[in-house]
Amino acid sequence: MTEQQPALTALLGLQTVDSELHGIMVKAKSLQESEHVKALLARRTQAIEAAKQLDARGKEAASGVDTAEAKVREIQVKIDRDTERLNHGGTAKDLMGIQHEIDTLTKQRGEAENAQYQAMEHAEAVAADREQKLPLLRAADAQAKEAVAQRDQDLAALKERHQELTAQRPGRVSAVGDDALVKRYDSLRNARGGGRIAVARFERDTCGACGTHMSPGDAETIAHTPAGSIPTCIECSALLVR
Ligand SMILES: [Zn+2]
Repeated sequence: MTEQQPALTALLGLQTVDSELHGIMVKAKSLQESEHVKALLARRTQAIEAAKQLDARGKEAASGVDTAEAKVREIQVKIDRDTERLNHGGTAKDLMGIQHEIDTLTKQRGEAENAQYQAMEHAEAVAADREQKLPLLRAADAQAKEAVAQRDQDLAALKERHQELTAQRPGRVSAVGDDALVKRYDSLRNARGGGRIAVARFERDTCGACGTHMSPGDAETIAHTPAGSIPTCIECSALLVR
């Protein structure tokens, strides 16, 4: 035991808070960069695009049916008109001419009806394809939304915990009661990219920060650290608390 023991014990408490804060930041970053969510969002974008294309194909097919129907009606109007003319009578030559026109129009109507039938069949096939694909597209949309909602919920929970710990930190710092020691701790913690464990227990000749097991000679040196100075790990430089 040295006179620094209470300060070091308080420093371990501060390290616990800082380690959790660091862990939260790492976790939040990985959630924000989640490949899983990114993949689902990309799939959702593709699904939306595919749904738009299916809708466009559906409209185009319906419009094809309308056009084909209109064509049949148009020919029918001409046939009706000619039939009426035929019923009104006239010279044999006129009637023959009208009959010939009716025959031609009837043939055209047959072709137009055929085209109409094909347009309807095409529209049905397009609608069936859409029916089959839409549930998959909706599922892709729902899955992406769910993953984003879950991620946002997780991030909100992390943020809340981060705020709690941040609020606790000043109390932990003042509990150490040694500004120079906290400064040394902070610089160790923030070295080499930050997030390092700067203070740990030294038990069974092992550094609690990096796990290095000391040789008997090094353990002896640590054990005989003069009062007033703090032993450090030869591997990771963490302050060691005996
Ligand atoms: Zn170490």
